Amino acid sequence: MVSRSEGLAWQERHEALKLKLLERAGYTCYICGLALSWDDTHIDHVLPKYLGGHKYSHSNMAPVHGRCNLRKSKKHPCEVEAVLMWFGKSVEGVILSRDDC
Ligand SMILES: [Zn+2]
Repeated sequence: MVSRSEGLAWQERHEALKLKLLERAGYTCYICGLALSWDDTHIDHVLPKYLGGHKYSHSNMAPVHGRCNLRKSKKHPCEVEAVLMWFGKSVEGVILSRDDC
């Protein structure tokens, strides 16, 4: 039984994470709310790393379209109007609180 992913190559770990995030989000982009396809999915840090977001915390990661990721760029989630719809629905309810705005 394989208990850890340590032995997997980076690409495999990345794809496993992407699948986990996609399933958690119901294959929906958290910025625009539209459906995601596997090939058009980027993993976004909801709170950018330079603003104190956790680089490796899965609760700070969400799947987005490539174009949505570019639009959000490194902005604080509070600065992205479309993301505001997502408040209160965030995974683990920690990162995206209106109190942080
Ligand atoms: Zn999108």
